[in-house]
Amino acid sequence: MKLADTPVTQHQFSNIPFYLKRDDQLHPQFSGNKARKFMALLEDDFPAVTTLIGYGSSQANSLYSMAALAHLKGWQLEFYVDRIPQWLMETPTGNYRAALALGAQVIPVAESESHPVDYIEQIRQPDEHCLFVPEGGRCELAEYGVTQLANEIAEWILTQPKQQWAIALPSGTGTTALFLHKALKHHDQLDEHAIEVITCACVGGSAYLRLQFEQLGETDHPTIIEPATKHHFGKLYLQDYRIWQQLQQQTGVEFELLYDPMMWQCLLDWYPNNRDKTLLYIHQGGLLGNESMLPRYQRKFGESV
Ligand SMILES: *Cc1c(COP(=O)(O)O)cnc(C)c1O
Repeated sequence: MKLADTPVTQHQFSNIPFYLKRDDQLHPQFSGNKARKFMALLEDDFPAVTTLIGYGSSQANSLYSMAALAHLKGWQLEFYVDRIPQWLMETPTGNYRAALALGAQVIPVAESESHPVDYIEQIRQPDEHCLFVPEGGRCELAEYGVTQLANEIAEWILTQPKQQWAIALPSGTGTTALFLHKALKHHDQLDEHAIEVITCACVGGSAYLRLQFEQLGETDHPTIIEPATKHHFGKLYLQDYRIWQQLQQQTGVEFELLYDPMMWQCLLDWYPNNRDKTLLYIHQGGLLGNESMLPRYQRKFGESV
């Protein structure tokens, strides 16, 4: 099975004209950057494998993407989490709900007093029928699918008049931004094109993101831009909620609530000094997560602000 060639659409937000790479439309279930990061697993054959094993948060985008991957491959997904919050068990929503609907097993390990990774390695003990994927697909495995994304972007850029490009996407682990930067930099047809990958650190700040880049073995990094005010991952900010609503109103596109608002805040500050560049924003999917994030925002700030 091969998934590729998501469209590029054109929009305007505030005073910023931009193009949007619609990776949210890769596949109805298997979409966004997690799908890109796990693409090698979709395309390769694993005749011995029956069980996919992962771990992370019970509300993570990666939980749903791994469930979709397992579903497409005919595998069972075992996803190990520390705990499943009581409210989520009572009213499954978002990524958790959708992963269960695809047949995923979400297994809490807090009672064993071990970290999910230790639990998997020491107690579950994966055998040759298992495929164990690190959290969020943060590994070299991801490079294959992200390079494919870079190739699609390159092909599209080559159809456009020559100009200076800024390719923007928010980072968690930074895996997507880093491999995108690397693949575009080394692309053999883009030599004469000015392309800069810009990102922001949604988790743990810029220094931490740089460290993550280095741990992936690369010394040449994307440009990190910073928001005027400090952000803590997963916390609810009125400003983020407003930007998310305005994005929807002005573009007709639903963005993701956990990562996208921070990147757009950075871009609103960045744009006045970079009007000579053309922005291409990567929509990295994750919209199912909004199903649980949006009610949290609405409870805190009301329906519309
Ligand atoms: C996971 C995710 C990110 C972060 O991706 P990294 O490769 O970890 O930097 C950004 N946006 C969305 C919607 C995601 O699901």
